[in-house]
Amino acid sequence: MNVLVINCGSSSLKYQLINMADESVLAKGLVERIGIEGSILKHEIEGKDKVVIEQPMENHKVALTLVLGALVDKDHGAINDMSEISAVGHRVVHGGEKFSGSVVINDEVINALEECIELAPLHNPPNLMGIAACRELMPSVPMVGVFDTAFHQTMPKSSYIYPLPYELYEKYGIRRYGFHGTSHRYVSERAADMLGKDIKDLKIVTCHLGNGASLAAIDGGKSVDTSMGFTPLEGLAMGTRSGDLDPAIVTFIMEKEKLDIEGINNLLNKKSGVLGISGVSSDFRDIENAAKEGNERAQLALDKFNIRVKKYIAAYAAVMGGVDAVVFTAGLGENSASNREDICTGLEFIGINIDPVKNNVRGKEVIVSTDDSKVKILVVPTNEELVIARDTLELVK
Ligand code: AMP
Repeated sequence: MNVLVINCGSSSLKYQLINMADESVLAKGLVERIGIEGSILKHEIEGKDKVVIEQPMENHKVALTLVLGALVDKDHGAINDMSEISAVGHRVVHGGEKFSGSVVINDEVINALEECIELAPLHNPPNLMGIAACRELMPSVPMVGVFDTAFHQTMPKSSYIYPLPYELYEKYGIRRYGFHGTSHRYVSERAADMLGKDIKDLKIVTCHLGNGASLAAIDGGKSVDTSMGFTPLEGLAMGTRSGDLDPAIVTFIMEKEKLDIEGINNLLNKKSGVLGISGVSSDFRDIENAAKEGNERAQLALDKFNIRVKKYIAAYAAVMGGVDAVVFTAGLGENSASNREDICTGLEFIGINIDPVKNNVRGKEVIVSTDDSKVKILVVPTNEELVIARDTLELVK
Protein backbone atom coordinates (compact mmCIF):
# COMPACT_ATOMS: atom_id res chain seq x y z
CA MET A 1 0.00 0.00 0.00
CA ASN A 2 1.41 3.42 -1.02
CA VAL A 3 0.62 6.60 0.89
CA LEU A 4 1.17 10.05 -0.63
CA VAL A 5 2.16 12.63 2.00
CA ILE A 6 1.43 16.25 1.14
CA ASN A 7 2.63 19.39 2.91
CA CYS A 8 1.34 22.62 1.36
CA GLY A 9 2.69 26.09 2.11
CA SER A 10 1.31 29.32 0.65
CA SER A 11 3.41 28.97 -2.50
CA SER A 12 4.93 25.53 -2.06
CA LEU A 13 3.97 21.86 -2.07
CA LYS A 14 6.24 19.16 -0.63
CA TYR A 15 5.43 15.50 -1.20
CA GLN A 16 6.63 11.98 -0.54
CA LEU A 17 5.23 8.73 -1.86
CA ILE A 18 5.89 6.04 0.75
CA ASN A 19 5.54 2.27 0.30
CA MET A 20 4.11 1.23 3.66
CA ALA A 21 5.14 -2.41 3.25
CA ASP A 22 8.74 -1.46 4.10
CA GLU A 23 8.31 2.30 4.70
CA SER A 24 10.63 3.11 1.79
CA VAL A 25 10.35 6.45 0.00
CA LEU A 26 9.43 5.72 -3.64
CA ALA A 27 9.55 9.35 -4.74
CA LYS A 28 9.72 12.79 -3.21
CA GLY A 29 9.79 16.34 -4.37
CA LEU A 30 9.03 19.98 -3.93
CA VAL A 31 7.07 22.54 -5.92
CA GLU A 32 8.04 26.14 -5.30
CA ARG A 33 6.73 29.52 -6.43
CA ILE A 34 3.13 28.35 -6.95
CA GLY A 35 1.05 31.29 -8.16
CA ILE A 36 4.10 33.44 -8.86
CA GLU A 37 6.51 33.73 -11.75
CA GLY A 38 9.12 30.98 -12.04
CA SER A 39 7.07 28.00 -10.73
CA ILE A 40 9.30 24.95 -10.48
CA LEU A 41 8.87 21.25 -9.61
CA LYS A 42 11.87 19.22 -8.43
CA HIS A 43 11.09 15.50 -8.45
CA GLU A 44 13.41 12.82 -7.08
CA ILE A 45 13.37 9.06 -7.34
CA GLU A 46 15.88 6.81 -5.59
CA GLY A 47 18.56 5.71 -8.06
CA LYS A 48 17.45 8.02 -10.89
CA ASP A 49 18.43 11.53 -11.98
CA LYS A 50 16.49 14.39 -10.42
CA VAL A 51 13.81 15.82 -12.74
CA VAL A 52 13.18 19.56 -12.86
CA ILE A 53 10.01 20.87 -14.49
CA GLU A 54 9.66 24.62 -14.96
CA GLN A 55 6.27 25.81 -16.16
CA PRO A 56 3.61 28.21 -14.89
CA MET A 57 1.57 26.79 -12.00
CA GLU A 58 -1.17 29.23 -11.13
CA ASN A 59 -2.50 27.34 -8.12
CA HIS A 60 -2.08 24.22 -5.95
CA LYS A 61 -4.39 22.17 -8.18
CA VAL A 62 -2.17 22.78 -11.23
CA ALA A 63 0.92 21.97 -9.14
CA LEU A 64 -0.61 18.75 -7.84
CA THR A 65 -1.65 17.72 -11.36
CA LEU A 66 2.00 18.00 -12.40
CA VAL A 67 3.16 16.07 -9.30
CA LEU A 68 0.72 13.23 -10.03
CA GLY A 69 1.88 13.27 -13.66
CA ALA A 70 5.51 12.97 -12.52
CA LEU A 71 4.64 10.07 -10.20
CA VAL A 72 3.10 8.00 -13.02
CA ASP A 73 5.50 9.14 -15.77
CA LYS A 74 6.95 6.30 -17.88
CA ASP A 75 10.54 7.53 -17.52
CA HIS A 76 10.79 9.17 -14.11
CA GLY A 77 7.67 7.84 -12.39
CA ALA A 78 7.48 5.56 -9.35
CA ILE A 79 4.12 3.85 -10.03
CA ASN A 80 2.21 2.69 -13.09
CA ASP A 81 -1.00 4.55 -12.46
CA MET A 82 -2.89 6.52 -9.86
CA SER A 83 -4.74 3.50 -8.51
CA GLU A 84 -1.45 2.60 -6.78
CA ILE A 85 -1.95 5.56 -4.42
CA SER A 86 -4.14 4.10 -1.66
CA ALA A 87 -4.42 7.14 0.60
CA VAL A 88 -3.20 10.70 1.07
CA GLY A 89 -1.90 12.13 4.35
CA HIS A 90 -1.96 15.91 4.73
CA ARG A 91 0.11 17.91 7.16
CA VAL A 92 -2.17 20.49 8.77
CA VAL A 93 -0.62 23.13 10.99
CA HIS A 94 -3.46 24.09 13.32
CA GLY A 95 -6.15 21.78 14.63
CA GLY A 96 -7.19 24.11 17.45
CA GLU A 97 -8.77 22.39 20.46
CA LYS A 98 -10.91 20.21 18.20
CA PHE A 99 -8.26 17.71 17.12
CA SER A 100 -6.12 15.84 19.60
CA GLY A 101 -5.15 13.21 17.02
CA SER A 102 -5.16 12.59 13.29
CA VAL A 103 -8.51 12.27 11.49
CA VAL A 104 -10.01 11.00 8.25
CA ILE A 105 -10.91 14.11 6.26
CA ASN A 106 -14.60 14.62 5.45
CA ASP A 107 -16.85 17.67 5.03
CA GLU A 108 -17.25 18.07 8.78
CA VAL A 109 -13.48 18.09 9.31
CA ILE A 110 -13.04 20.64 6.53
CA ASN A 111 -15.63 22.90 8.17
CA ALA A 112 -13.81 22.58 11.49
CA LEU A 113 -10.50 23.42 9.80
CA GLU A 114 -12.03 26.48 8.21
CA GLU A 115 -13.00 27.60 11.70
CA CYS A 116 -9.33 27.28 12.72
CA ILE A 117 -8.17 29.67 9.96
CA GLU A 118 -8.39 32.59 12.36
CA LEU A 119 -5.84 30.86 14.60
CA ALA A 120 -3.38 30.15 11.77
CA PRO A 121 -4.12 32.62 8.97
CA LEU A 122 -0.80 31.98 7.19
CA HIS A 123 -0.71 28.20 7.46
CA ASN A 124 -4.17 26.63 7.41
CA PRO A 125 -5.44 28.21 4.13
CA PRO A 126 -2.66 26.59 2.01
CA ASN A 127 -3.20 23.29 3.85
CA LEU A 128 -6.88 23.51 2.93
CA MET A 129 -5.99 24.36 -0.68
CA GLY A 130 -3.92 21.17 -0.86
CA ILE A 131 -6.81 19.13 0.55
CA ALA A 132 -9.26 20.69 -1.93
CA ALA A 133 -6.92 20.00 -4.87
CA CYS A 134 -6.52 16.34 -3.84
CA ARG A 135 -10.26 15.89 -3.39
CA GLU A 136 -10.85 17.23 -6.91
CA LEU A 137 -8.11 15.22 -8.58
CA MET A 138 -8.42 11.96 -6.62
CA PRO A 139 -12.04 11.98 -5.36
CA SER A 140 -12.19 8.33 -4.36
CA VAL A 141 -8.89 8.22 -2.44
CA PRO A 142 -9.27 8.47 1.37
CA MET A 143 -7.43 11.34 3.07
CA VAL A 144 -6.16 11.95 6.56
CA GLY A 145 -5.20 15.20 8.30
CA VAL A 146 -2.26 15.12 10.72
CA PHE A 147 -1.96 18.21 12.92
CA ASP A 148 1.14 19.97 14.25
CA THR A 149 -0.84 20.96 17.32
CA ALA A 150 -2.47 17.60 18.13
CA PHE A 151 0.37 16.03 20.15
CA HIS A 152 0.36 18.99 22.58
CA GLN A 153 -3.35 18.70 23.37
CA THR A 154 -2.33 16.64 26.43
CA MET A 155 -0.79 19.72 28.09
CA PRO A 156 -2.39 20.46 31.45
CA LYS A 157 -4.42 23.63 31.65
CA SER A 158 -1.79 25.27 33.86
CA SER A 159 0.68 24.93 30.94
CA TYR A 160 -1.60 26.17 28.22
CA ILE A 161 -3.51 29.00 29.89
CA TYR A 162 -2.04 32.53 29.62
CA PRO A 163 -2.20 34.88 32.58
CA LEU A 164 -4.74 37.07 30.75
CA PRO A 165 -8.42 37.72 31.51
CA TYR A 166 -9.95 34.21 31.38
CA GLU A 167 -12.81 35.41 29.12
CA LEU A 168 -10.30 35.92 26.28
CA TYR A 169 -9.59 32.19 26.32
CA GLU A 170 -13.32 31.46 26.27
CA LYS A 171 -14.14 34.08 23.61
CA TYR A 172 -11.24 33.69 21.19
CA GLY A 173 -9.41 30.50 22.11
CA ILE A 174 -6.35 32.48 23.24
CA ARG A 175 -4.23 29.78 24.85
CA ARG A 176 -0.99 27.97 24.16
CA TYR A 177 -1.33 25.29 21.45
CA GLY A 178 2.27 24.37 20.58
CA PHE A 179 3.57 23.25 17.18
CA HIS A 180 6.07 20.77 15.64
CA GLY A 181 4.01 18.10 17.46
CA THR A 182 4.57 15.45 14.80
CA SER A 183 8.32 15.88 15.12
CA HIS A 184 8.37 15.94 18.95
CA ARG A 185 6.27 12.78 18.98
CA TYR A 186 8.45 10.94 16.43
CA VAL A 187 11.82 11.73 18.00
CA SER A 188 10.64 10.99 21.55
CA GLU A 189 9.36 7.57 20.43
CA ARG A 190 12.61 6.85 18.57
CA ALA A 191 14.63 7.92 21.61
CA ALA A 192 12.73 5.47 23.83
CA ASP A 193 13.40 2.70 21.29
CA MET A 194 17.10 3.61 21.10
CA LEU A 195 17.35 3.49 24.89
CA GLY A 196 15.46 0.16 25.01
CA LYS A 197 12.89 1.65 27.41
CA ASP A 198 9.12 1.99 27.46
CA ILE A 199 8.31 5.64 26.73
CA LYS A 200 5.78 5.49 29.61
CA ASP A 201 8.76 5.28 31.99
CA LEU A 202 10.69 8.23 30.55
CA LYS A 203 10.84 11.97 31.06
CA ILE A 204 12.18 13.45 27.80
CA VAL A 205 12.99 16.98 26.64
CA THR A 206 12.89 17.14 22.84
CA CYS A 207 14.66 20.05 21.11
CA HIS A 208 13.45 20.67 17.55
CA LEU A 209 16.03 23.21 16.43
CA GLY A 210 15.54 24.34 12.84
CA ASN A 211 14.63 27.61 11.23
CA GLY A 212 11.55 27.40 13.42
CA ALA A 213 12.50 25.96 16.81
CA SER A 214 10.69 24.60 19.83
CA LEU A 215 11.20 22.38 22.86
CA ALA A 216 8.75 19.96 24.43
CA ALA A 217 8.57 18.33 27.84
CA ILE A 218 7.31 14.78 27.29
CA ASP A 219 6.41 12.83 30.41
CA GLY A 220 5.47 9.19 29.89
CA GLY A 221 4.95 9.79 26.16
CA LYS A 222 2.64 12.79 26.66
CA SER A 223 3.47 16.42 25.93
CA VAL A 224 3.10 18.37 29.19
CA ASP A 225 4.68 21.64 28.03
CA THR A 226 6.13 23.16 24.90
CA SER A 227 7.82 26.44 24.09
CA MET A 228 5.64 27.64 21.18
CA GLY A 229 2.29 29.06 22.16
CA PHE A 230 -0.79 30.64 20.62
CA THR A 231 1.30 30.98 17.46
CA PRO A 232 4.76 29.67 16.46
CA LEU A 233 6.24 33.01 17.57
CA GLU A 234 6.60 32.23 21.27
CA GLY A 235 9.57 30.58 22.91
CA LEU A 236 13.09 30.29 21.55
CA ALA A 237 14.90 32.90 19.49
CA MET A 238 14.57 31.48 15.96
CA GLY A 239 15.92 32.14 12.47
CA THR A 240 13.82 35.28 12.06
CA ARG A 241 11.33 35.11 14.97
CA SER A 242 11.85 36.85 18.28
CA GLY A 243 10.42 34.20 20.61
CA ASP A 244 9.69 35.33 24.20
CA LEU A 245 9.62 39.10 24.79
CA ASP A 246 8.37 41.57 27.34
CA PRO A 247 4.93 42.21 25.74
CA ALA A 248 5.24 45.93 26.49
CA ILE A 249 8.00 46.11 23.84
CA VAL A 250 5.41 45.48 21.14
CA THR A 251 3.40 48.66 21.68
CA PHE A 252 6.58 50.62 22.45
CA ILE A 253 8.11 49.72 19.06
CA MET A 254 4.80 50.36 17.27
CA GLU A 255 4.72 53.86 18.69
CA LYS A 256 8.39 54.71 18.16
CA GLU A 257 8.72 53.19 14.68
CA LYS A 258 5.19 54.18 13.58
CA LEU A 259 4.30 50.58 12.74
CA ASP A 260 0.82 49.22 12.11
CA ILE A 261 -0.27 45.65 12.94
CA GLU A 262 1.19 44.24 9.72
CA GLY A 263 4.44 46.13 10.31
CA ILE A 264 4.95 44.83 13.85
CA ASN A 265 3.99 41.27 12.84
CA ASN A 266 6.54 41.46 10.05
CA LEU A 267 9.23 42.76 12.41
CA LEU A 268 8.64 40.06 15.03
CA ASN A 269 8.25 37.16 12.57
CA LYS A 270 10.62 38.05 9.74
CA LYS A 271 13.27 40.45 11.00
CA SER A 272 14.04 39.30 14.51
CA GLY A 273 15.62 36.18 16.02
CA VAL A 274 19.23 35.37 15.13
CA LEU A 275 18.86 37.39 11.91
CA GLY A 276 17.84 40.44 13.90
CA ILE A 277 20.66 40.18 16.42
CA SER A 278 23.43 39.21 14.00
CA GLY A 279 22.41 41.30 10.99
CA VAL A 280 24.17 38.51 9.04
CA SER A 281 21.59 35.85 8.12
CA SER A 282 18.79 33.66 9.44
CA ASP A 283 20.77 30.58 8.42
CA PHE A 284 22.74 29.11 11.30
CA ARG A 285 25.56 27.97 8.99
CA ASP A 286 26.20 31.58 7.89
CA ILE A 287 26.04 32.76 11.51
CA GLU A 288 28.42 30.06 12.76
CA ASN A 289 30.87 30.95 9.96
CA ALA A 290 30.65 34.68 10.69
CA ALA A 291 31.16 34.02 14.43
CA LYS A 292 34.27 31.96 13.67
CA GLU A 293 35.63 34.88 11.67
CA GLY A 294 35.22 37.12 14.72
CA ASN A 295 31.84 38.76 14.03
CA GLU A 296 30.72 39.67 17.57
CA ARG A 297 27.02 40.09 16.79
CA ALA A 298 26.95 36.68 15.10
CA GLN A 299 28.44 35.19 18.27
CA LEU A 300 25.93 37.13 20.37
CA ALA A 301 23.07 35.69 18.27
CA LEU A 302 24.36 32.14 18.84
CA ASP A 303 24.81 32.80 22.55
CA LYS A 304 21.25 34.16 22.83
CA PHE A 305 19.85 31.18 20.95
CA ASN A 306 21.77 28.64 23.03
CA ILE A 307 21.09 30.19 26.45
CA ARG A 308 17.36 30.11 25.77
CA VAL A 309 17.44 26.44 24.80
CA LYS A 310 19.48 25.76 27.95
CA LYS A 311 16.95 27.63 30.13
CA TYR A 312 14.03 25.71 28.66
CA ILE A 313 15.77 22.34 29.18
CA ALA A 314 16.34 23.12 32.85
CA ALA A 315 12.82 24.54 33.21
CA TYR A 316 11.28 21.41 31.68
CA ALA A 317 13.32 19.19 33.98
CA ALA A 318 11.68 21.15 36.80
CA VAL A 319 8.21 20.88 35.21
CA MET A 320 8.54 17.08 35.01
CA GLY A 321 10.40 16.63 38.31
CA GLY A 322 13.42 15.21 36.49
CA VAL A 323 14.70 14.35 33.04
CA ASP A 324 16.00 11.05 31.62
CA ALA A 325 16.82 12.09 28.07
CA VAL A 326 17.41 15.18 25.96
CA VAL A 327 16.87 14.74 22.22
CA PHE A 328 18.20 17.03 19.47
CA THR A 329 16.55 17.15 16.05
CA ALA A 330 15.87 19.28 12.90
CA GLY A 331 18.40 21.14 10.72
CA LEU A 332 20.51 22.64 13.48
CA GLY A 333 19.88 20.03 16.18
CA GLU A 334 20.82 17.15 13.88
CA ASN A 335 23.81 18.80 12.25
CA SER A 336 25.58 21.25 14.53
CA ALA A 337 27.85 19.55 17.05
CA SER A 338 29.10 22.88 18.39
CA ASN A 339 25.57 24.07 19.05
CA ARG A 340 24.66 20.89 20.95
CA GLU A 341 27.86 21.12 22.98
CA ASP A 342 27.31 24.79 23.87
CA ILE A 343 23.72 24.08 24.96
CA CYS A 344 24.65 21.11 27.15
CA THR A 345 27.70 22.72 28.74
CA GLY A 346 26.63 24.07 32.13
CA LEU A 347 23.79 21.59 32.56
CA GLU A 348 26.04 19.02 34.29
CA PHE A 349 24.36 19.98 37.59
CA ILE A 350 21.20 18.17 36.48
CA GLY A 351 23.16 15.19 35.19
CA ILE A 352 23.57 16.23 31.54
CA ASN A 353 27.08 15.33 30.33
CA ILE A 354 27.88 15.47 26.64
CA ASP A 355 30.79 13.46 25.16
CA PRO A 356 32.59 15.77 22.67
CA VAL A 357 33.95 12.82 20.66
CA LYS A 358 30.62 10.96 20.31
CA ASN A 359 28.95 14.30 19.64
CA ASN A 360 31.08 14.84 16.54
CA VAL A 361 28.33 13.51 14.23
CA ARG A 362 25.67 14.86 11.97
CA GLY A 363 22.36 13.63 10.67
CA LYS A 364 22.20 10.17 12.20
CA GLU A 365 20.64 8.43 15.20
CA VAL A 366 23.21 8.30 17.95
CA ILE A 367 23.63 8.68 21.72
CA VAL A 368 26.12 11.47 22.38
CA SER A 369 26.23 11.59 26.20
CA THR A 370 29.13 10.17 28.22
CA ASP A 371 28.69 6.57 29.42
CA ASP A 372 28.16 7.76 33.00
CA SER A 373 25.82 10.66 32.14
CA LYS A 374 22.67 10.38 34.26
CA VAL A 375 20.67 12.01 31.48
CA LYS A 376 21.08 10.46 28.02
CA ILE A 377 21.60 12.90 25.14
CA LEU A 378 20.47 11.74 21.72
CA VAL A 379 20.56 12.98 18.15
CA VAL A 380 17.53 11.76 16.19
CA PRO A 381 16.86 12.96 12.63
CA THR A 382 13.19 13.84 12.48
CA ASN A 383 10.80 12.25 9.96
CA GLU A 384 7.44 14.00 10.01
CA GLU A 385 6.43 12.49 6.65
CA LEU A 386 6.75 8.96 8.03
CA VAL A 387 4.53 9.80 11.03
CA ILE A 388 1.92 11.29 8.67
CA ALA A 389 2.08 8.19 6.46
CA ARG A 390 1.80 5.82 9.45
CA ASP A 391 -1.19 7.70 10.91
CA THR A 392 -2.82 7.72 7.48
CA LEU A 393 -2.36 3.97 7.06
CA GLU A 394 -3.68 3.33 10.56
CA LEU A 395 -6.85 5.37 9.98
CA VAL A 396 -7.73 4.12 6.51
CA LYS A 397 -6.88 0.45 7.09
P1 AMP B 1 15.10 23.12 9.25
O1 AMP B 1 14.16 24.24 9.47
O2 AMP B 1 14.90 21.95 10.15
O3 AMP B 1 15.24 22.72 7.81
O4 AMP B 1 16.56 23.68 9.68
C1 AMP B 1 17.16 24.73 8.96
C2 AMP B 1 18.30 25.31 9.79
O5 AMP B 1 19.26 24.28 10.09
C3 AMP B 1 19.04 26.39 9.04
O6 AMP B 1 19.22 27.53 9.85
C4 AMP B 1 20.38 25.77 8.76
O7 AMP B 1 21.39 26.70 8.78
C5 AMP B 1 20.55 24.81 9.92
N1 AMP B 1 21.55 23.80 9.55
C6 AMP B 1 21.46 22.85 8.61
N2 AMP B 1 22.64 22.17 8.51
C7 AMP B 1 23.50 22.73 9.40
C8 AMP B 1 24.86 22.51 9.80
N3 AMP B 1 25.59 21.57 9.21
N4 AMP B 1 25.39 23.30 10.75
C9 AMP B 1 24.65 24.27 11.32
N5 AMP B 1 23.38 24.53 11.00
C10 AMP B 1 22.79 23.78 10.07
